[in-house]
Amino acid sequence: MTQGAQDSGGMDKARALLKSVFGHEDFRGPQEEIVATVIAGGDAFALMPTGGGKSLCYQLPALVRPGTGIVISPLIALMEDQVLALSELGVRAAVLNSTLGFEDMRKTEWQLRSGEIDLLYVAPERLLQERTLQLLEACKIALFAIDEAHCVSQWGHDFRPEYTQLRILHERFAHVPRIALTATADARTRAEIVRQLALEEARTFTASFDRPNIRYAIAPEGAGRTGLLRFIETRHNGESGIVYCLSRKQAEETAAWLREKGIDALAYHAGLSGAERARRQRRFLREEGVVMVATIAFGMGVDKPDVRFVAHLSLPRSIEAYYQETGRAGRDGAPADAWMTFSMRDVVLQRRFIDESPAPDEHKRIQRAKLEALVALTEATTCRRQILLDYFGEPLEEPCGNCDTCLEPPQVEDMTVAAQKALSCVYRTGQRYGAAHLVDVLLGKETEKVMRAGHDSVSTFGIGDELNASGWRALFRQLVIGGALDVDEERFGALRLTEKSRAILRGEEPFHMRKQPKRPRGKRGVVRKSRAGEELSSPGRRLFEALRAWRMEEAREQNKPPYVIFHDATLRDIASLRPRTLQALSTINGIGEAKLEHYGKAVLAIVAADRSDADQA
Ligand code: ADP
Ligand code: ZN
Repeated sequence: MTQGAQDSGGMDKARALLKSVFGHEDFRGPQEEIVATVIAGGDAFALMPTGGGKSLCYQLPALVRPGTGIVISPLIALMEDQVLALSELGVRAAVLNSTLGFEDMRKTEWQLRSGEIDLLYVAPERLLQERTLQLLEACKIALFAIDEAHCVSQWGHDFRPEYTQLRILHERFAHVPRIALTATADARTRAEIVRQLALEEARTFTASFDRPNIRYAIAPEGAGRTGLLRFIETRHNGESGIVYCLSRKQAEETAAWLREKGIDALAYHAGLSGAERARRQRRFLREEGVVMVATIAFGMGVDKPDVRFVAHLSLPRSIEAYYQETGRAGRDGAPADAWMTFSMRDVVLQRRFIDESPAPDEHKRIQRAKLEALVALTEATTCRRQILLDYFGEPLEEPCGNCDTCLEPPQVEDMTVAAQKALSCVYRTGQRYGAAHLVDVLLGKETEKVMRAGHDSVSTFGIGDELNASGWRALFRQLVIGGALDVDEERFGALRLTEKSRAILRGEEPFHMRKQPKRPRGKRGVVRKSRAGEELSSPGRRLFEALRAWRMEEAREQNKPPYVIFHDATLRDIASLRPRTLQALSTINGIGEAKLEHYGKAVLAIVAADRSDADQA
């Protein structure tokens, strides 16, 4: 047989398994080409956003090629769930890590040697032990998959030193194809992955980074946790989500406050013991409706597909970080939200961290540019998705229609004159005062402090009747965020002029501000249903909720996370298509042979019961 004929035979098999094992009709994005490359024995480098479908790119070739696929993944805690999910699909999967007892380890090794395992998950430190390498040399290996490959990069925040030694795979298993996968897009990290892992020969595949099911929204500066609560109550009641905070303290306090308000929230940060973190993560994965209030210690590799929202209470460090964190929402493709608020203080602190860090100037310059790109995103009045995708070098022709600025175009006001008054007031009073005092001067208030400093005689005293006190305070905050004022932390928050303020003062640059919406978005007190069932008719929604309840019960009985049984998206399709036969059920995305056999009858019974309820009504 020629090489080509052999390859296409491999792809026929891959296509058949795509349907029978995974229950998917078609490949998505670059999956097909990646799978074909690896099946044919080539190396691949896959850049796909979170939720893009990376796992299939190595799982399928591992099933088609003879031998075991070895998956290197940084987090032991998450391997277990992957293995569970694969077992549900009838795939023979196992883990090899330090949590395994001696007996289990022996058993897994034995199964491996006798070729009874399709996919083996290994932590990098385990893999690199000589003993493990020898074990693998004695087995038939289908491929190596290096997941979260950006962990080789020292610049990223997920650096794992062991990852830099993984090039040993290339040296010791020269004929085994390797596939590296990551959702981190920037060019520098990509280049480092290729170099560190010796992937010069690999074909690179890039999927679109767009996540159309995620709705991006950035609330006005200072919306705070009250804004967060309103967002959760109106859009995600009883659903699972992640809230990112800047500090452990903020995470603890926010979680406690949300619990008081009746939300099932848990804090997660590096200050908790390993056991406690594992326990909380498990609750988050296994139960529906848990909100994890976390620092960035939480998230990498969290493969929960039905996270319905990701919220930020503080500004992340860059658009990359923001995109990676928000990407954890809606991996199942169903509608999800990315919501953020932040405070002026975040911006000031982040700028200061960079300025005061001991990093080389070149590095600081990059960090500063990254932060300012994110600040600009928060201020944007055009489509957020266009800005995000543009940043990743993937311009989007039309506004997306699924972000806050598209759905509710903000009104922008020319505030140049007020800004000039504010900046001039900073100048006249000697750049030594904070916003509160400056507002008093602008409004002509004869406070003790104003009188003592003699500021009732400066030219900006009492010239600010176009805004009230809170309007002026908002303007000052916006000037700081926009870089037209600096905060001097050493001098109790005194405001100082910058290059940009001079340009505004001279009338060379205008200053625009968003008009604050009069009414907060989403009416207070109106509690909507979960979004997972949105877009269904009301009988469809009722059936969806019935299926969800059945899934939860099933999950509890089997001690598995609910999404391992079926994803929300699959339940939604069942609820809208209402299949009457196993054959009809099998056409739904996410239902392969194993699931059909295990759950098909139960699901049809629920659909039938719902139908007869409807007939009686
Ligand atoms: P990633 O690891 O890239 O974040 P996953 O591999 O977890 O993404 O896949 C994300 C979701 O997409 C999963 O729910 C998976 O079942 C689904 N998926 C993957 N490939 C396909 C496909 N070809 N058709 C339909 N759904 C798919
Ligand atoms: Zn948009």
